[in-house]
Amino acid sequence: MAPIENFIGGKFVAAHSGRTDSVVDPATGETIAEVPSSDATDVDDAVSAAEKAFGEWSQTTPQERATMLIKFADALEEHGDELASVESRNVGKPISSMADEIWFAADNLRFFGGAVRAMGASATGEYLRGYTSMVRRDPLGVVASIAPWNYPFMMAVWKIGPALAAGNTVVLKPSELTPLSSLLMAEWTADIFPPGVFNVICGQGESAGAPLVADPRVALVSLTGDVATGKAIAKAAADTLKRVHLELGGKAPVIVFDDADLEAVIEGIKVAGYVNAGQDCTAACRVIAGASIHDDLVAGLSEAVQSLVVGDPSNEKTELGPVVSAEQRERVTGMVERAKAAGAEVVTGGTARPGGGFFYEPSVIVGAAQTDEIIQREVFGPVVTIQRVADEGQALEWANGVDYGLASSVWTRDVGRAMRMAKNLQFGCVWVNDHIPITSEMPHGGYKQSGYGKDMSIYSIEHYTEIKHVMIKH
Ligand code: NAD
Repeated sequence: MAPIENFIGGKFVAAHSGRTDSVVDPATGETIAEVPSSDATDVDDAVSAAEKAFGEWSQTTPQERATMLIKFADALEEHGDELASVESRNVGKPISSMADEIWFAADNLRFFGGAVRAMGASATGEYLRGYTSMVRRDPLGVVASIAPWNYPFMMAVWKIGPALAAGNTVVLKPSELTPLSSLLMAEWTADIFPPGVFNVICGQGESAGAPLVADPRVALVSLTGDVATGKAIAKAAADTLKRVHLELGGKAPVIVFDDADLEAVIEGIKVAGYVNAGQDCTAACRVIAGASIHDDLVAGLSEAVQSLVVGDPSNEKTELGPVVSAEQRERVTGMVERAKAAGAEVVTGGTARPGGGFFYEPSVIVGAAQTDEIIQREVFGPVVTIQRVADEGQALEWANGVDYGLASSVWTRDVGRAMRMAKNLQFGCVWVNDHIPITSEMPHGGYKQSGYGKDMSIYSIEHYTEIKHVMIKH
């Protein structure tokens, strides 16, 4: 059972107000925990603890911090069964998907530990006669990490890992819907990091997230969340000119040319379009298919998704769980209904699953126009659209013709075409003949309204540092 209090200065504490928020199991709709509904006074305590801890923490060496991050990674794996069961129950994720997530989060932490020891800077040298110049990368101070509900502990790790590696202290605010795995991680880190280096504060966006963003002692806010939340945070952060790092929504195009390997495409979208019930910012949700391959793809994908095992996330055979909340299911239902009203056709799925929990049938939709809401806006549910496209030029125009720019894929046997598309797609990631794999060494982040700043890779650690020029007169 996860702890159910905020983690501040190395101790679990209740909210000053005593108020709590209910945490719900999306597979049943039942309340499974009550956690603090924090407000500005609790945020103040957490930032004070992080600010106090920064003094000593910023003096640690990369080797010392790396050793602790690697212990943190070991803890995730040692407590893997508990972490898997808490996360699966809180988010509705199939239990069979948890081993990969835990392995990957642990690998991220080990990477950050190694990378910070290998971080380079430009050469020290004499750029003015009689002076030596050098460039330092200093930590920023207190970092606010604000996480979403779709991959709660993994998104938290993507934020706290590089921030701590670079020598910052952290206040993590998990989503109000899914705080349990972050509290579990806090419990394990109590024996690893000095008090105040890593703090967790539960609560709603407006009452806990907003005061954290407004606090002048916070040097950087890193958010993974909705585009609207990113804009609100960027505006609020402007008052104190703090840095922002925004990983926002996506609407990934999956461009399938007529020469693509049809079976591989179907298998790829069956996985990447419906992973985590489609609640993935890089989900393969927007297929743009060549005129000749379109019909076979629609038929093949519809048949494939009908075979997905939907149901109880705790069952090892389950491939598709519920979406995270009743509100999220209503959002998906509304978008599909409006797509139908606008003239699109639901080939399979298109309805909520009756019974308890927030399940939605895996769905395939065809015939939507480029300007339709279902093409332009993120659904964040198990819904994939397929558009029939005339040629390469139109495919590129449609792919780029959305506000988002997070991830994309191109499926073709023509290397030249793949290279042209990779150059011209306005997305932070282009996969060729696959969709979804990620690795700790490579950056993840958006173009356009998908935000700015990169998660994972050396670029993320750099983002959590400030560059300082030191110039010495001889
Ligand atoms: P959300 O924006 O509703 O909430 C994200 C976090 O922000 C939560 O912790 C919330 O409490 C907090 N928050 C909300 N309003 C705030 C405010 N005014 N000030 C400070 N904090 C505030 O997002 P969500 O619904 O939890 O997550 C789903 C979204 O996250 C989707 O749009 C998805 O695409 C995106 N996402 C992006 C990535 C990526 O890497 N780009 C990864 C995962 C999810």
